Amino acid sequence: MIAAASKSTLQTSFPLVGASLAELTEWIQTQGQPAYRGKQLHQWLYERGARSLMDISVFPKAWRETMADYPLGRSTIHYRAESRDGTIKFLLKLVDGSIIETVGIPSEKRLTVCVSSQVGCPMNCDFCATGKGGFTRNLDRHEIVDQVLTVQEEFQQRVSNVVFMGMGEPLLNVDSVLAALQCMNQDIGIGMRMMTVSTVGIPGKIRKLAELQLQATLAVSIHASNQRVREQLIPSARQYPIETLIQECRDYVKITGRRVSFEYIILSGTNDLPEHARELASHLRGFQCHVNLIPYNPITEVDYNRPTDPQLAEFKHILEDRNIAVSIRRSRGLDADAACGQLRASRSAAEALTEV
Ligand code: SAH
Repeated sequence: MIAAASKSTLQTSFPLVGASLAELTEWIQTQGQPAYRGKQLHQWLYERGARSLMDISVFPKAWRETMADYPLGRSTIHYRAESRDGTIKFLLKLVDGSIIETVGIPSEKRLTVCVSSQVGCPMNCDFCATGKGGFTRNLDRHEIVDQVLTVQEEFQQRVSNVVFMGMGEPLLNVDSVLAALQCMNQDIGIGMRMMTVSTVGIPGKIRKLAELQLQATLAVSIHASNQRVREQLIPSARQYPIETLIQECRDYVKITGRRVSFEYIILSGTNDLPEHARELASHLRGFQCHVNLIPYNPITEVDYNRPTDPQLAEFKHILEDRNIAVSIRRSRGLDADAACGQLRASRSAAEALTEV
């Protein structure tokens, strides 16, 4: 009786992608199969990219046939756009029909995946395309892990780095994000330090990550050097004074011994004046951090401008002069609308695209 009940619950509610070896071993036993098949299942899911139990040729044929429709938790590729620089943006269709974006970014030695943590985003930052389409729901563990498996499969190459810089605010979905990180590390084999969680900052959540001793890199989208400008750009900043945010980051460094990255989008004339650079430097003085300057990538709904190279260089120079580690992030994938902040999957955009 009990076995039958748990079997049916697991069947309807347990997508296999994202599960650990122990979970897979337990599950396969509830299906009347020997424990060692858990290891085979693990290998087929994570190394061989099985999309259905039917694919797993080492399993008994009769059993595979009865399980052919069991959902593994894989998405389908709805659309892909390839940029001249090799970056590929995917629109992935989830089981419930939701569309999310994932970007694969190849470079000489790496393959980086930019993953989404939510369908849409509730933060509504002024300069970001994702928020313009509203928010639908959080992603589950398997839906995050699936994005990495999909990129791995499409590029026929192992993923080396993961950044949570796609759609959504990861710290509004901490449990699934942490579970996905765990799986990507333990089951797919990506080093914790090769993964970055990027957040606009949610009160109290950075402290929580510190207490959990997050080993992935924490990136904080600061984008402004004072509360007034930050509130203009980021509506949620009203509930989170910049001083409190920075204090939480200082504590994070103290507790984890790991530095924090700050992302600073450069919007010409809005937050890139020399006084802004000086103000930012004074906030960040004396703690282990790194600033990434991101020239604004244009989106249609708003009227910001990209900075010129000399403007960017001056801002950088002012920070360097004050001993702040800083680099400029040149976005990849601009011509495929796959760069930072350009990710959207609005229904009209998705419907206009041909299915592949
Ligand atoms: N919600 C998270 C992760 C998603 S955004 C966060 O805010 O960090 C990933 C990065 O892209 C963030 O730093 C974000 O501010 C930046 N970004 C958003 N819109 C952009 C745009 N139009 N041009 C350049 N960067 C942008």
